[in-house]
Amino acid sequence: MTQFVERWANRDVLTLQPYQAGKPIEELERELGITDVIKLASNENPRGPGPAVHAALARASTTLSRYPDGSGYRLKRALARQLGVDAEQISLGNGSNDVLELVARVALSPGSEGIVSAHVFVVYPLAVIAHGGKLVTVPAKDWTHDLEAMARAVTDKTRIVFVANPNNPTGTWVNKQQLTTFLDRIPDHVIAVLDEAYFEYLRHADYPNGVSLLNRYPNLVVTRTFSKIYGLAGMRVGYCVSHRDIADLLNRVRQPFNVSSLALECAEAALGDQEFVRRSREINDEGMEQLHRGLDQLGVDYIRSGGNFLCIDLKRPAAATYDALLRLGVIVRPIAGYGMPNHLRVTVGLHEENARFLDALARVL
Ligand code: PMP
Repeated sequence: MTQFVERWANRDVLTLQPYQAGKPIEELERELGITDVIKLASNENPRGPGPAVHAALARASTTLSRYPDGSGYRLKRALARQLGVDAEQISLGNGSNDVLELVARVALSPGSEGIVSAHVFVVYPLAVIAHGGKLVTVPAKDWTHDLEAMARAVTDKTRIVFVANPNNPTGTWVNKQQLTTFLDRIPDHVIAVLDEAYFEYLRHADYPNGVSLLNRYPNLVVTRTFSKIYGLAGMRVGYCVSHRDIADLLNRVRQPFNVSSLALECAEAALGDQEFVRRSREINDEGMEQLHRGLDQLGVDYIRSGGNFLCIDLKRPAAATYDALLRLGVIVRPIAGYGMPNHLRVTVGLHEENARFLDALARVL
């Protein structure tokens, strides 16, 4: 089979490894014959979507025989109002992954370079390589993007640089000063992608809001998602905000109906329910505290995270602990593929879920 595809397949695609998603609950339940599995593996909102989304879903279900509004008119306008930008600056995607891919597609051609940090969200390297770009990976500093080194890595061939703020899986983030110093050094032949998938979880005064920097940096693209705090990971809808000329390019290469009618309707409803977002953030803060306390008691080290997840450091290969947790019905995420073989990434769950994780961890250690 391999030989057969090698005769014609794109060389770059042959070098890729598929994205490793968190193990689905049903799969583990099938494998173990149990029913009370908890999943803290994919940085989802443990509350599920808010009530406004359920009503939207019922409404949208009556329109399924029609194609969606391919322009996403209403959702874009609702986002534009909330963000204080023009609707023409917004591009929608089938999750923010789709948008990240589209940006790579418009920026890269064979021979051009894309810069990422080590331990970075794996979709960027995939997007760079799949679009014929040469991947340049810059070592991280204390698990955080080394923005100075990343700026130094820019060459005449660089076309795209990705910054995840906060990063997944490390959870680390860069502050306003660090980010603007970096963006000041990015030349205009490079597009800078700032991934803010976890933006709504951070309330630190020093945490930068990428959208507010767009006027200053026309080559900046800020991506966000409805998959995390909005509780719509299964719906697949994300977006980016950029200069309208960049949005125009993205619009040329996307699929005409890349966001489903259900996703458009639910995202608009979710956006309107900021009380749900506020409460989700509060529950995440409490859960993060709970995890910190529990891990401190167990003497387990972790990386401080700005998102709804954190990486624990077992100081030895984590695969056996991952397996042992699975046998206790707790799914977390192994991240050896991110160059972090001693760490496991845990999503902040509801109070009972966090307690169950801590209890299971205490047992397996
Ligand atoms: N960026 C980061 C940093 C993420 O962690 C994720 C989700 N794992 C995404 C983007 C993509 O999420 P989605 O496609 O669901 O919007």
